[in-house]
Amino acid sequence: MSAPLLEVRNLSAAYGRARVLFGLSFELHPGEVMALVGRNGAGKTTTLKAIMGLVPASAERLAFKGRSIVGLPTYRIARLGLGYVPEDRRIFTDLTVEENLEVGRREARAGLSPWTPERLFRLFPNLAEMQGRRGNQMSGGEQQMLSIARTLMGNPEAILLDEPSEGIAPVIVQMMAEAVRAMKAEGVAVLLSEQNWAFAAGISDRACVIERGEIRFQGSMQALMADAALRAETLGV
Ligand code: ATP
Repeated sequence: MSAPLLEVRNLSAAYGRARVLFGLSFELHPGEVMALVGRNGAGKTTTLKAIMGLVPASAERLAFKGRSIVGLPTYRIARLGLGYVPEDRRIFTDLTVEENLEVGRREARAGLSPWTPERLFRLFPNLAEMQGRRGNQMSGGEQQMLSIARTLMGNPEAILLDEPSEGIAPVIVQMMAEAVRAMKAEGVAVLLSEQNWAFAAGISDRACVIERGEIRFQGSMQALMADAALRAETLGV
């Protein structure tokens, strides 16, 4: 197997005195899609934030492309090639689609063809139709796509997506699934946090089930799909 892009070993995190992650370990490999699934409050968002240095965390190892990212500020982690799309999207609502994309533009990485607005519009055809529209004139789902597209303009090798399907129309969820498949086909690894089991199952190669801040299952999506008892117990599906 290839060397992992992202290595997470014994990751713990707390908000004040309340511990919420208890020693999580997993890896993300180049070009794969892995889902962190679990119930509301299980710790999925906190896991992504801890990787990006956005919440106080400790780990035996937290590394991207073999380099420790413990203690690095978030923007430096992003510049190493780890993109992050938070739950609340954070696009610039006063800027147009095109302007938002330009804000995200960073140097290309050796061996990967650089993302351009034209390439992204092929991936997200509905964004192509609203290039001049401002963020505040877009639906939640469209904003979510723009947020992902803007992150891709940074030419990441891996991207962390926090609940990409949350609160968006079914037709956009479908487009989002296609976009994740296309990112994978373009060689971008994806770690996604999801509560929408059907969405996660349809696009992921592997899964980690998180329950109360601990990993209950880690393996192929096929294996998780085959274990109805575990899913019923940990995900309620
Ligand atoms: P959701 O799908 O609701 O986002 P999640 O699996 O992503 O769930 P987290 O958001 O990581 O879960 O939350 C894990 C635990 O940490 C929950 O018990 C939550 O109440 C708590 N928590 C999250 N954010 C904070 C915060 N800023 N301060 C204190 N506790 C928090």
